[in-house]
Amino acid sequence: MLHKISIPTPFPVGPVNVYLLKGKDCLTLVDTGPKTVEAQEALEAGLRAVGVRVEDLDQILLTHYHCDHVGLLENLVEQSGAKVYAHPFTEPLIAREPAFEAARSEFYQGLYRGLGLTEAQKQQAIGQIYDYLEYVGVAHVDVALREGDRLPGHEEWQVVYTPGHALDHLSLYDAVGKRMLLGDHVIKKISSNAFIEPPHRAGDERPRMLMIYREALRKVQTLDWEIGYAGHGEEITGHRDLITKRLADMERRQANVLETVRSGKTTGVEITLAMFPRHLEQLTLIISETVGHLDWLVAEGKLRVEDDNGLWRYFAVEE
Ligand SMILES: [Zn+2]
Ligand SMILES: [Zn+2]
Repeated sequence: MLHKISIPTPFPVGPVNVYLLKGKDCLTLVDTGPKTVEAQEALEAGLRAVGVRVEDLDQILLTHYHCDHVGLLENLVEQSGAKVYAHPFTEPLIAREPAFEAARSEFYQGLYRGLGLTEAQKQQAIGQIYDYLEYVGVAHVDVALREGDRLPGHEEWQVVYTPGHALDHLSLYDAVGKRMLLGDHVIKKISSNAFIEPPHRAGDERPRMLMIYREALRKVQTLDWEIGYAGHGEEITGHRDLITKRLADMERRQANVLETVRSGKTTGVEITLAMFPRHLEQLTLIISETVGHLDWLVAEGKLRVEDDNGLWRYFAVEE
C-alpha cells in the first residue's frame, strides 16, 4: 500500500508530497517535508489518517537532499529510530560535514566569479543557497542505495539513479505494479531545474547537470510504467509524451541561449540577465538554467569558452 501525504512548505514550489509505503512488516516513509511546525503537524495528521504514528516508522528513504524533502529527518529519526536510506552522495550534504561544506562554498564562489557576478549578486546567490538551512535538521544516512538495489522491506521497488535535478537523486520503480516514485525528477505541471552542483569529490570535473538530467530523463522514459508519484503536484500518467515535451522545451531554450550569445552577450551573468529578465529574484535558479545550457552548447561544439583572467567568455562557433 502506498499513501500520499501533502506537506506545506514555506517555499514558492508549494506543498511537497511524501509517501508512506506499508509493507508486510515494514513502514517506510519516502521523504519528510521541511523542518517547520506546520510540516510536522501535517505529517502526523497524514500518518494518523492511516493508523500510523511517527514512532511506528521503520525506515525513511530520501529521494534527494533538498530541504523540502529532508528537513524533518532529524526529528523523525529521533522520534522513531527509523533507518535512513539514500544515495551515497546524500550523507555529507545532510550531515553538513565541515570539509565538504567548505569545498562547496569555495565551488560556488569560483563559479560565480567565472560567470561574472557582481559582489552584490554573489551575496544574493550564496544567500539563496544557505537560507534554506533554517528548514533542515542535521541527520545521517544509515544505508546507501544504488541503481538496481531493492528497497528492503518492499522488494517490489527497485532503485533507479536519476541525477540531474540533484546529483544524489534516486527514484523507485515497481516493474510489476508499473509505478514509479519520482521525487523531483519529473513533476507534472513544472519543469524541474537542473541545479548546478559541485562535483561530489572536490577537484573532480564539474558535473554538467543539464546533460546528466537529460540522460536520466531518457532512462526513465524508456521504463514501462503507468502512474508516477511525484514530489510535488499530481500523479503523472503518459510519461513518455511528457518527457518528450520536456526534452523538446530544453532544445528550444538551447537555441535561445545560442541566439543570446550570438547577439553579443559573452559572460554568464550577461547571458542570464538577457535570458531571464523577469526572474532576477530567483538568481540561483536562472544561473543554473543558463550554465546548464552553456555547458551543453560547449559540449555540442556550438560554443567555445575563453578564460579572460578568471572570467569565462562564451563565443558562438561559426560553421
Ligand atoms: Zn528538489
Ligand atoms: Zn522538491
